[in-house]
Amino acid sequence: MRAIISRQAGDFIRQHCKDANVVCLTGAGISYESGIPLFRGKSGLWEKYDPDVYATMDGLISVFRQRHGDLAKFVFDFYSLLYKARPNPAHTSLAALESAGIVRSVITQNIDNLHQEAGSRAVIELHGNALRIRCLGCRKTFKFEKERSKEMAELLKKNMGSRMKLLKVLSRYFPRCKDCGSRFRIDIVLFGEALSENELSAAYEQLAQCDVLLIVGSSLLVYPAAGLPLYAKDKGAKLIEVNTGISALSDICDYSIMGKAGIVLPEIAGILCR
Ligand code: NAD
Ligand code: ZN
Repeated sequence: MRAIISRQAGDFIRQHCKDANVVCLTGAGISYESGIPLFRGKSGLWEKYDPDVYATMDGLISVFRQRHGDLAKFVFDFYSLLYKARPNPAHTSLAALESAGIVRSVITQNIDNLHQEAGSRAVIELHGNALRIRCLGCRKTFKFEKERSKEMAELLKKNMGSRMKLLKVLSRYFPRCKDCGSRFRIDIVLFGEALSENELSAAYEQLAQCDVLLIVGSSLLVYPAAGLPLYAKDKGAKLIEVNTGISALSDICDYSIMGKAGIVLPEIAGILCR
């Protein structure tokens, strides 16, 4: 198969990424080839469900009160996408680049757990993880295994007609904390909620030290994540972008590689891990 990366791009990558500190910033585009729809472009899930309602806590509560069946359908559709998705070659290439000591960390806006599933260890999750639950009181977290989320989605679908039964299913999978008595919730950052200070400061720390920031599959329209490349550039890092289109910051990137992440990243790994 013909390489997507031009010789010139290959030379740039070799020159700047070999023996360097490379950090990667990923967005929804890296998981598109795993079957998870993008946010912008409104394909799939977000065409069917208005994110201003279904990606906010108030919206979710009001849907449950007024149209509980719709909430059950949404949770079913959302988790069906997540538990079926598997890492694609872009995720596994980043994990290989980390094992080779080239990529120091992946800062992701995604909530799908696919970087970890691919084997990446240093993952900073700006928007949380949908396969984890968090206590609203003591903030303790637990994994919400794919199998468990599948089981919950199927039970929700079966009991869609009854608000009481739905409440029972949701209470079983988002139980009360044994330590503090508060309720568990999905550990993601919904619209209007603040990002975790810990994750954000870990991201800035990584960016202050990196030589190259590799940006993969993000429109760079969602702040504060979209401000991170500006910070890295200001600290002296080169910006390399991999995207099927252009992003809000393509203009300031030192190199933009147009192509699917699942094809381009294995080529980058091939160049650097050789
Ligand atoms: P976005 O949907 O705004 O932009 C996706 C970008 O990826 C676009 O620039 C597009 O051109 C590019 N793209 C599409 N297919 C690609 C491919 N195969 N290879 C490379 N690039 C490709 O995504 P965003 O910038 O991450 O912002 C969306 C927000 O929604 C984030 O905050 C994220 O938390 C959330 N979100 C997460 C997921 C997920 O967890 N997988 C999915 C959808 C949305
Ligand atoms: Zn607790």
